Amino acid sequence: MVNRVLMWAAASPRLQRQVTENPVARRAAHRFVAGARLEDALEAAAELNSRGIGSILDLLGEGVEDLSGVGHAVAEYEEATQAIAAQGLDSTISIKLSQLGQTVDRDACVANLGRILGGAKAVGVRVEIDMEDSTLVPDTLELFREAATAHPQTRLAIQAMLRRTPLDLEALAPLKPRVRLVKGAYAEPVELAQQGKGEIRAQFKFLTDWLFRHGVDPAFGTHDDELIAHARKAAVQAGKGPEDFEFQFLYGIRRDLQRELVDNGHRVRVYVPFGSAWYPYLTRRMAERPANLLFFLRALVGR
Ligand SMILES: Cc1cc2nc3c(=O)[nH]c(=O)nc-3n(C[C@H](O)[C@H](O)[C@H](O)COP(=O)(O)OP(=O)(O)OC[C@H]3O[C@@H](n4cnc5c(N)ncnc54)[C@H](O)[C@@H]3O)c2cc1C
Repeated sequence: MVNRVLMWAAASPRLQRQVTENPVARRAAHRFVAGARLEDALEAAAELNSRGIGSILDLLGEGVEDLSGVGHAVAEYEEATQAIAAQGLDSTISIKLSQLGQTVDRDACVANLGRILGGAKAVGVRVEIDMEDSTLVPDTLELFREAATAHPQTRLAIQAMLRRTPLDLEALAPLKPRVRLVKGAYAEPVELAQQGKGEIRAQFKFLTDWLFRHGVDPAFGTHDDELIAHARKAAVQAGKGPEDFEFQFLYGIRRDLQRELVDNGHRVRVYVPFGSAWYPYLTRRMAERPANLLFFLRALVGR
């Protein structure tokens, strides 16, 4: 129920305006979002690096519907890659194709993606591609396939909850894809996606084993202890060492576990969202864990 209300809240422009214009709400969001500016994200990345943790810079914003918004996102990402290289940070960037014009002008999106990938490669920064809702999955896979042929370092997020995912991965196998495996953050209909926690976990474990056999340098984007334990065990069974894969976390979540993994020699990378468009991101995080909603409401009323 809370979950459904939050998914509704994520899509409500009116509520979004009311919350994002509230300075107290903006401050409370800082637990999960580095800040509004690129400098805030770079600072967060440097702090993570000082603790032996890599970062993934993510400019918040999705479903950009006008080309000026697209131009702004492309420029921000280019600036981010330049700054990461200039400051010698251990950081990738992660992009959403809908920010690059995927649903407005696909040719422009292809050109923008090529521009970002080319620029990042020139300064030695890796690029990751987020996976968005199921309407964008087929095209995102297609664009990844084209991108990964020219830029094999590119990593794609793949959602374990989607029923189609095992077949999608089989189709990508010849590319030896770099994948970030996640459960999936979007509300999807039962025909397209597993709904039960147990089923999603089972598929995540199956895909983890698959990635150790067919992928390159897999990343596991989860805070779920059971899935992290499974990946550690599966790596040993596949003859992989801790340098052959990484765990990825969201900013502000399970810092205890991040530390424990680093202390045990694992590679850890934290996804650092920044930018003014933090509202849909934050409501998705609250839908995953209603305790975060309580945290946010308490911060709003100053307790
Ligand atoms: C690095 C990274 C990148 C991602 N990229 C994408 C993407 O491109 N596309 C996409 O659809 N999804 C993405 N996701 C989100 C993902 O799909 C899940 O929605 C999210 O990770 C929650 O699932 P979980 O595996 O952590 O398991 P859950 O069952 O949600 O959580 C397991 C445990 O982790 C902790 N936890 C989880 N979430 C939170 C939270 N919000 N606040 C506090 N504690 C929490 C709790 O202890 C919880 O019991 C990404 C996640 C990560 C970590």
